[in-house]
Amino acid sequence: MDYDIEIVARNDPSQVLYPKDSPRIGAFADASGSLFDVSYEQLMRRGQWFRAGGAERMRPGRGRWSLLVRNRAGSLGAVVERARLRNLAVTTAILLLMLAAIAMLVYTTRKAQRLAELQMEFVAGVSHELRTPLTVIRTAGHNLSAGLINGPSQISRYGALIEAESEKLRGIVEQVLRFSNAEAGRVVQTRELVSPAALIEDALRGCHSVLRESECEIERKVDPDLPAILGDPTALQHALQNLVNNAAKYGRDGRWIRLTAASSTHAGRPVVEIRVADRGPGIPPDERNTIFDPFYRGRRAVGDQIHGTGLGLSLVKRIVEAHGGAVSLTSQPGILTEFVIRIPASMESMNEFADSLSRR
Ligand code: ADP
Repeated sequence: MDYDIEIVARNDPSQVLYPKDSPRIGAFADASGSLFDVSYEQLMRRGQWFRAGGAERMRPGRGRWSLLVRNRAGSLGAVVERARLRNLAVTTAILLLMLAAIAMLVYTTRKAQRLAELQMEFVAGVSHELRTPLTVIRTAGHNLSAGLINGPSQISRYGALIEAESEKLRGIVEQVLRFSNAEAGRVVQTRELVSPAALIEDALRGCHSVLRESECEIERKVDPDLPAILGDPTALQHALQNLVNNAAKYGRDGRWIRLTAASSTHAGRPVVEIRVADRGPGIPPDERNTIFDPFYRGRRAVGDQIHGTGLGLSLVKRIVEAHGGAVSLTSQPGILTEFVIRIPASMESMNEFADSLSRR
C-alpha cells in the first residue's frame, strides 16, 4: 500500500486511535474525511432526538472520528515540490550542456577560421618568399649572360649572391616539405646515435650565410663527454638550424648568439640540453605560446617584413617532441632570449659513458 492511514478523534486530533505506534500524520495529511457520520435520513427516523436539536450537533460530515491519509513518499505537496526541483535541475543541466556545446562550437569555428586565415597568409607569404630570391637569381644570371659583369672579383661576388639566394630557396622548400611530412606523421625518419657536438657543428655550418649576414658574434660552449642522442640526425639538425636562423634573423641587433650544450636531468631522466640565445628584442609575453603554432608569425616579424614562413618553431617543437623531449623559452627584451631543447640521452650511450668513467 502506498498510503499511510491514521484515525484520530475529530474533536481532539492529537488522540490517535489507529495505529497506535506509527509516526503521526497530523497536519500533514493529503486528504481527510469523517468516519461514522450519521446520515440525515437516520436522524429523520429518530425524529424526537432531531427535534431536540441533536441534528444541529451531528450534521453530515461531523462524525466522531477522522480518517487521515498521506502518501508514503511524503505529502503530495512535497512530492510535487521534489518533482519540480528535479525538473528544474534537469532543465538547468540541459541548458548548461547546450551553452557549453555552443561555446565549444564558437571556439572551434573561430579556431578553424583563424587557421584558414593563417594558411592564406602562409601561401601569400611563401609565394613572396620564393619570389624574392628567384628575382635576385634571375637578375644576376641575366647580368652575367649579358656580359655586364667584368672582372673576377665582381663575378665571384655574383657567384656568392646566387649561392646565398639559392640557399634561401632550398631552406624554404625544405621547410615546407618537412612540414608536410610532419603533417603526414613522418617527423622522424631514422633512429641512430647522434653526437650533440656534431649536431651543433653541422647546424652552424648550415646557417653560415645567415650568420655571416647578421654579423653576430658566435659564442659556443659544448660540454665534453656529452652522451649521444638516439634520433634522426637530419631532423634534429633542421630543428637546431631553425633556432640559430631565428636568433640571427630576429636577434641581429644584439650582435651576439650563444649556443650551449650540456648534460642535465629532466623529470628524473638524463637529457642533453641545447640552448640557443640572442640579445635581440625578444618575444612579447602574449606571443610566447602562439609562436609554436604552425603558420604563426610574430607582430614584429610581420611589421618589420622579416622573411619567414611561420613554420620553423612548430617544426622545432614537433621534432623535439618526437624524440621524447621538450622545448621551452625565456625572453627578456634586449637582455636575453633563449630557446632550450631537452632531449633524452640514449641509455646505450649513458652505459658506455659510465663504463668509460669506471675504466679511467
Ligand atoms: P618565422 O621565423 O618563419 O616567422 P618561426 O616559427 O620560426 O617562423 O617563428 C615564429 C615567430 O616567433 C617569428 O615570426 C618571430 O616573431 C618569433 N621568434 C622566433 N624566434 C625569435 C627570436 N629569437 N627572437 C624574437 N622573436 C622570435
